[in-house]
Amino acid sequence: MAERPERGKVASYIPELAKIDPRKFGLVVVSNDGEIAVAGDSEAPFSIQSISKVFTLTLALGKIGDRLWQRVGREPSGSAFNSIVQLEYEKGKPRNPFINSGAIAVTDVILSGQPREALGEILRFMQFVADDNAIKIDDEVAASEQRTGYRNAALANYMKSFGVLDNPVHFTLGVYFHHCAIAMNCRQLAMAGRFLANNGINPSTGMSVVTPERAKRINSIMMMCGHYDGSGEFAYRVGLPGKSGVGGGILAVAPGKASIAVWSPGLDETGNSYLGRIALEQLTRRMGWSVFGA
Ligand code: GLU
Repeated sequence: MAERPERGKVASYIPELAKIDPRKFGLVVVSNDGEIAVAGDSEAPFSIQSISKVFTLTLALGKIGDRLWQRVGREPSGSAFNSIVQLEYEKGKPRNPFINSGAIAVTDVILSGQPREALGEILRFMQFVADDNAIKIDDEVAASEQRTGYRNAALANYMKSFGVLDNPVHFTLGVYFHHCAIAMNCRQLAMAGRFLANNGINPSTGMSVVTPERAKRINSIMMMCGHYDGSGEFAYRVGLPGKSGVGGGILAVAPGKASIAVWSPGLDETGNSYLGRIALEQLTRRMGWSVFGA
C-alpha cells in the first residue's frame, strides 16, 4: 500500500484526530485456528471511534435482548454518520445502532443498567474479547470530542425530547465520547473481533461471548450499516460484515474464517478509511472470503 499516493483525508472535526500521520497503514488477520498475519503499523495504537459501537451493541443486547429494537432500528440509513434529518421524520428513533444517534441510544441502555460503571464495563468487555488488559481510553481524544461534539449533543438532546434516552444527556454523551476514544492497535482489534468470526465463541478460551444466533445478527447489521452511506459500496467491493471508525480503522469479519483489522487514517467522502477498504477488497478477493461467493 506504501506506493499508493491517494489516501483520503484525515478526520479533522475532532481536533485531536487531525494530528494523525496519514501515511500510517496497518493490517492484521487472525484466523479462527489462531494464526496471525501482520503487516505495516500493526502495533501502533489508533482511535477506534465508531468501531466501539460493535462492542456496545453486543453489550446492550446482552442486557436487554431484543427489547433494544424498540429504541433503535436495524435498517441501513443511507445518510451520513451524524445526520440529524432522519431523526425528525422517525420521531427520535435512530435507524440503526451504528449511526451516531443509534450508538448514543445504545450507550444510554448500558448506562441505565450500570450507572456508575458503564464506561468501565465497556472497557473491560473490550479487554476481555481481545484477551488484552493493556487496552486503554485515550483521554485527550475523549476531551477533544467532548469540547467540540456539538452535533452529537444536538442528536442526544433531540432523542431526549422524544424520551428515547433515559439518562441525563451529558452523562450519556460522556460515556459515548469515551468509548469512541478507546485506543487499540490492529492486532488488538482483530483479536477483539474473533468471537464474531467464530459463532460467538472466543477461540482462545472456548468461552461463549454471545450465542451463534446473536453473532450472526451482529454480523448482518455490520454488513448493512457498518459504513454509513458507504455500506453498499463496502458490501459490493469487500463482501464482508465490517465496521469503520473516523480514526481510519475497519474491523471486518470473515464468518467461520478470520477476524481482520486494518488502519489507514485518511477517509473517503463517506467518512470511511480510503485505503483500508481497498486493502480489504484485495485481501478478500485473493482469499475468496466474500460471503457472496469467491
Ligand atoms: N466519535 C465519533 C463521532 O461521534 C464517531 C464517528 C465515527 O467513527 O464514524 O462523531
